[in-house]
Amino acid sequence: MMPKIRLLALSLICLLASVVTAQNKPAADLIVTNAKVWTGDAAHPQAQSVAVIGDRVVAVGSDAEVGVLRGANTKVIDAGGKLIIPGFNDSHVHFVSASRDLDQVQLNDATSADEFIRRIRAQAEKTPKGSWMLGGGWDETKWTPPNPPTKEMIDSFTGDMPVFLDRYDGHGALANSVALKMAGITAQTPDPPGGVIVRDAQGNPTGLLRDAAKILVINVLPRMTHDERIAAIRRGMEYAASLGVTSVQEMNDEGTDSFADIDAYSELEQSGELTLRFYVAAAISDWKKEADAGIRRAFGTSFVRMGALKGFADGSLGSRTAYFFDPYSDDPSNFGITAKQMHPLSQMQEWITNADAARLQLCIHAIGDRAISTILDMYTEALKEHHGAERRFRIEHAQHMAAKDFDRFAQLDVIASMQPYQAIDDGRWAEARIGHDRASRTYAFRTFLNHGVHLAFGTDWDVAPLNPLLGVYAAVTRATLDGKNPNGWFPEQKLTVDESVRAYTAGSAYAEFQEKVKGTISPGKLADMIVLSDDIFSIDPTKIRDVKVLKTFVGGKLVWDVYRRQHYVAAN
Ligand SMILES: [Zn+2]
Repeated sequence: MMPKIRLLALSLICLLASVVTAQNKPAADLIVTNAKVWTGDAAHPQAQSVAVIGDRVVAVGSDAEVGVLRGANTKVIDAGGKLIIPGFNDSHVHFVSASRDLDQVQLNDATSADEFIRRIRAQAEKTPKGSWMLGGGWDETKWTPPNPPTKEMIDSFTGDMPVFLDRYDGHGALANSVALKMAGITAQTPDPPGGVIVRDAQGNPTGLLRDAAKILVINVLPRMTHDERIAAIRRGMEYAASLGVTSVQEMNDEGTDSFADIDAYSELEQSGELTLRFYVAAAISDWKKEADAGIRRAFGTSFVRMGALKGFADGSLGSRTAYFFDPYSDDPSNFGITAKQMHPLSQMQEWITNADAARLQLCIHAIGDRAISTILDMYTEALKEHHGAERRFRIEHAQHMAAKDFDRFAQLDVIASMQPYQAIDDGRWAEARIGHDRASRTYAFRTFLNHGVHLAFGTDWDVAPLNPLLGVYAAVTRATLDGKNPNGWFPEQKLTVDESVRAYTAGSAYAEFQEKVKGTISPGKLADMIVLSDDIFSIDPTKIRDVKVLKTFVGGKLVWDVYRRQHYVAAN
C-alpha cells in the first residue's frame, strides 16, 4: 500500500491499517506537506512530507503517502516547496550568560577603540545605579593598532559603576578601577595559577585580566537571582528558535552555577515553556555532586538532561594562552599555559578517572596541540578501568592538532566538538602566531573525518554568534572574515554542506548520547525540524550565511514563525 512510508512501530502500522477502513483514525497532529525534506537519515534521505503525533515523527514520505494520516484535527502546514532539515543542535554554548548578555553591551563588531569607548559610554547611561555593566565580546584584533583595552579608556565616565567586559573568546576581560577594587586586585596581587593580571611598566594592573585571573572578579559578581535566570533563559530561547537551534549543550565553567540553571530549566519545563532542549555540563570540579546524586551521562528528560562535565586544559590562541609543544612563532619564549585545573596535572587526571568511573561524560576544553595531547593521555589512562560502559569522551575545540595525534584521537573514539565559525575568524591571524605547518592542522575538519572521528558542531556562543548557518557557511567555504581567503583558508579542510549539517545535527546528537532520539527526521525521533528560506544544498555556498530560518518546530510544535516574528511558547 505504502512502499516508502516508514512508521514509528508495528503497533502504529496496525492502527493505520484500521484507519483506512474504520472511523477511528489515529490521525497525525501535524503534517508538513509540499516540502523538500533533507532527513539526514541514510535509509531514506529525501522526502516531501512529515507527519507528527505528539512530539514524535511518525511518518516521512511523499505527500500522498503521509497524507493518509490526515484527520479532521490534523494541523497541515504547506511548506511551499522549501527545504526542511533537522533542527540544529549546538554542541557547545554558554547559554545562560550569553542570553543574559543579549541585552548588555555588544562590542564584538566595534572595529576601533573609539567605537569600543562610545558603546560603553552609551551603555553606562542606560545601566541602573548599583548594577554591574557586563557583556562585551570585544576583539582588539579588529582595531588599529590592535592594542588590548585598558581601564583608563573607560574609568572617566563609568564613575562608581563596576564594569567587567569579556573578550570575545572568554579568555580575557577588562575590569574598570571600581571592579578591580571590589575584587581586591592591586599591584601587590600575585598572578593566580593559570592566569595573568596584565600590568603596566610601573607594575600597576591595566584592568586586563587573562584566563584564571578573571575569577578574582567573577567571585565578587552578584549571583544571578532565580528570576533573572528565568528571564535570561526565556530571552535566549526566543533567539535560538529564530535561528533554528532546537538543542544546546551547555558547557559550564567554574564560577557558573549549573545547578541553579537546571533548577530554572526544570521550572520552565514543568510550566510547559521550554522550546529548546538542554544538555548541561557542570564544571568538572563539581563531579562528585553529580556522582553522589547517582546521576550518569545524559540523565534526564527530552528537554533537560545532565551528567556531563566540562574541564579546561588550556587557554585560547587569541589570548596566547593555548598550550603548544613548540613556542608561538611570533613569541619564542611563550608556549602558552595550562589552565588552573591542570595545576597539578594529577588533579585533572584524578577528576577524569573518578568522573569516568562514575559514568559521567567528559568534555575537556583543549586548543593547543600539547593541551590536546595531554588530555588524550589522560583519557588513555582512564580507559585502563574496564567498566564496560560507553564513554564518548569529548575534546572541546580540538583546534590545533599535532600530526601524531589524529590516529590516537580516532582510536580512543574521542568526539571532536568544534566551532567552525572560529576558523574563519581566527584564520585572519592564526598563521602569524603559529606558522604555516601548525596552521595546516587547525580546525582540521576534513582530516578528522578522514580518520573516522565523530564531529559535533557548535558555536561556543557567545564567543561566536549563535547562528548555525554561519557555522555551515564557515565549514563549507573557510573564507576568512577579512575577505583575504575567498577560496578557503587551508581549503583542503573544507567540508560539504551535507557533512557540515550532519555534524551540526546527528553529530551533535551523538555527542550527547541522543542519536537514537534526535538529529535526523525519522519515524520515532523527536519532531525537531526547521524550514529554511533557501536550499543550502544547491545555492552558491557563499550565500548560505544569508539564509533565514522561516519556521522552527520543537517536538512537533511550531515555536518560531518568521512571517509573524513570533516566538510561541507551548503552554500545556
Ligand atoms: Zn566555551
